[in-house]
Amino acid sequence: MAKKQSIDPFMEKLVSLCKRRGFIFQSSEIYGGLGSCWDYGPLGVELKNNVKRAWWEAMTHRRDDIEGLDAAILMHPKVWEASGHIAGFTDPLVDCKQCKHRFRADTIETEKCPDCGGELTEPRMFNLMFKTFMGPVEEESAVIYMRPETAQGIYVNFHNVLQPSRQKVPFGIAQIGKAFRNEITPGNFIFRTREFEQMEMQYFVNPAEDQKWFDYWKEQRWNWYLELGIRPEKLRWHEHGKGELAHYAKAAYDIEYEFSFGWKEIEGIHNRTDFDLTRHAEHSGKDMRYFDQEKNEKYLPYIIETSAGADRGTLVILADAYFEEEVKGETRVALRLSPKIAPIKAAVFPLVKKDGMPEVATKIYQDLKKHFKVFYDDGGAVGRRYRRMDEAGTPFCLTVDGQTLEDDTVTVRDRDSMEQTRHKIGELVELIGGKVG
Ligand code: ATP
Repeated sequence: MAKKQSIDPFMEKLVSLCKRRGFIFQSSEIYGGLGSCWDYGPLGVELKNNVKRAWWEAMTHRRDDIEGLDAAILMHPKVWEASGHIAGFTDPLVDCKQCKHRFRADTIETEKCPDCGGELTEPRMFNLMFKTFMGPVEEESAVIYMRPETAQGIYVNFHNVLQPSRQKVPFGIAQIGKAFRNEITPGNFIFRTREFEQMEMQYFVNPAEDQKWFDYWKEQRWNWYLELGIRPEKLRWHEHGKGELAHYAKAAYDIEYEFSFGWKEIEGIHNRTDFDLTRHAEHSGKDMRYFDQEKNEKYLPYIIETSAGADRGTLVILADAYFEEEVKGETRVALRLSPKIAPIKAAVFPLVKKDGMPEVATKIYQDLKKHFKVFYDDGGAVGRRYRRMDEAGTPFCLTVDGQTLEDDTVTVRDRDSMEQTRHKIGELVELIGGKVG
């Protein structure tokens, strides 16, 4: 099932670090893997959860104007008729008659097969939605779809959220959840997969104010990546030109990141106008308008959408953090993750497994783990333990040594500078907690 994907040398190193340290590995690996499906291991799930938490906090907790939602993956099939996904969520495909490889017609520049030079078939349209059946009978009327985006769950629940929350336009609804697309050309590790997670927010505005809010959200979303420590020179805007712009959108900008395989979209900010609410009003027969009590008028709000991928975002974080340097003739590999999203915030080591050091180190570990994620390691030379934590992206390593037993201090080693400073055990929660919160 797993077609071998070609990846560049940088990605190869990143994929192998992710496997080695338990961030991410192939789905169903013992059966040879399942194409472009990936499982998040112990460190990966922490990292991705931290990315999602950072998004959720920025989008909901720290604001008064955005409500959260967790809608079902399976939705009424009419949702996808209304959204246009049944009719239009398609990619043009061509097959090579010789080597049988399949490509998205819009991504290849030659008329002959890029792999073997063979002749290509005419493009055929291929719907990207996964279909399944609801209930015991596999018949046409039982067909439902795995959602290809989370956004529709927000549109159809516009009034369900509006009423109990007593929000007023402008306000938003945010959601994190799985989406499924039967992509033709998945690849580049977790960049493009068939099952992925989205972090989407739909902001409902008065149509007269759409440009103001569009500009506002562009700035907010750009800054979010900077807050996570992404290097600004690796980010750029891509404006959708006339040919690219979805027919319903008034304006669309992508935030792109410079991966080793080129500049690629990581998030889209779209002015979707009143397209979605209009369509759902038409197809459901329900009034989707907003009632403005002050002006005593009803209207369909415009929607400014911010649509990011949690997996793609996690890849950006990993790729941006990956770092190599030569130290004493050896290559040191580290993930320079922001302490805010690092899976493990600090590791605690006894320098040696004797002289009472493990007892003191265990006590520190037990105390710190009430505050943040810590890891205890007494296996092997301390240098090797540091290296393992460098690869895990752990910002601080705390070592209990002979001096600790005399004056209650430990060494705190910084992942990036490798400098060590001594601190009182009693100050550790504040010292580290202040940086990881
Ligand atoms: P692309 O052109 O890369 O296929 P898109 O324009 O179809 O992306 P959107 O529909 O705007 O993407 O989805 C919003 C976000 O969801 C993307 O910016 C990306 O982060 C994420 N995303 C979309 N498709 C995938 C996928 N197949 N795998 C992982 N993440 C994805």
